[in-house]
Amino acid sequence: MFGLIGHLTSIEHAQAVAEELGYPEYANQGLDFWCSAPPQIVDNITVTSITGQKIEGRYVESCFLPEMLTNRRIKAAIRKILNAMALAQKNHLDITALGGFSSIIFEEFDLKNNRQVRNVELEFERFTTGNTHTAYVICRQVEAVAPKLGIDLTKATVAVCGATGDIGSAVCRWLDVRTGVGELLLIARNQERLQDLQANLGRGKIMSLDGALEEADVLVWVASMPKGVEIKHTGLKKPSLLIDGGYPKNLGTKIQHPEICVLKGGIVEHSLDIDWKIMEIVEMEVPGRQMFACFAEAMLLEFEGQRTNFSWGRNQITVEKMEMIGKASVKHGFKPILNC
Ligand code: NDP
Repeated sequence: MFGLIGHLTSIEHAQAVAEELGYPEYANQGLDFWCSAPPQIVDNITVTSITGQKIEGRYVESCFLPEMLTNRRIKAAIRKILNAMALAQKNHLDITALGGFSSIIFEEFDLKNNRQVRNVELEFERFTTGNTHTAYVICRQVEAVAPKLGIDLTKATVAVCGATGDIGSAVCRWLDVRTGVGELLLIARNQERLQDLQANLGRGKIMSLDGALEEADVLVWVASMPKGVEIKHTGLKKPSLLIDGGYPKNLGTKIQHPEICVLKGGIVEHSLDIDWKIMEIVEMEVPGRQMFACFAEAMLLEFEGQRTNFSWGRNQITVEKMEMIGKASVKHGFKPILNC
């Protein structure tokens, strides 16, 4: 059985969907209350592959909210993730994806040293970040949509915001080796990590976000920002492709311009309907079929009988592993969404 550990995008979002989620008493409560809420299994899921194979899974709501990071509720944030993992393990979920900020918190606060959660000793091989599949899907979105806008990727400038992250660095490696893009712009805050990435890739220009916005034909957003940034379309190239792979979204604005395509990054659509409520709660456009690629990774590992931490640690994702999970994705009927 597979598992998905997820969270909502903000306190407002949590209050608005508390009832649907099964926490009606939390609808009028503030952050303190959410900090004390225990994780819960809120959805039972059956997924059928296009091969005919059927698998069962559970969705675990961790009750983590991004405001816990901006309001210095770090201990609560850590507790949410560890408790959700323990709940998944106690419920015999063999392979569970750590969605959105769950894996970021796990890595950022080095939770591998916190194996013991009350009476549960966490078995990390039961968990995957899902980042290999997410990075693969984002790269396929770049490759499929840019040419439709008249952008020749072999000559194009592609900027990656969050380049030194787990997903961002994997995207850079694929765009360099597989796609062969013209120029890579690397954006993040920590300069040392940017220089390491540049040395590792043997290419790439380290840029500020403002500089990159003016130069990029394609901009991939995979930064771990608790809140999106506001940008204006006036400074952007036309045509250009913006792929927002962040959860919560990295882009705070809805850009509307006929020559600028803004694509939801790292989202896949399954070929067959899935009977679940959770994708409606996170406002997926086609909730019966669309989902985050990291969640789909847990499903793919379950389908393939590969119940192990396929994506783990930071900056370990190889192009070969992206190809491997990509093949499984196609085989079982998942497709990256390509409509702006
Ligand atoms: P990491 O923590 O590994 O990397 C985050 C990256 O963002 C780093 O390069 C970091 O560098 C950079 N960053 C953070 N804040 C800023 C900022 N203000 N400006 C510029 N760069 C910034 O995260 P992941 O790669 O695991 O995840 C990235 C995003 O993808 C997250 O939003 C996550 O929720 C989302 N995600 C989406 C999935 C999906 O299925 N669609 C699956 C999993 C994750 P520095 O700190 O130096 O700035």
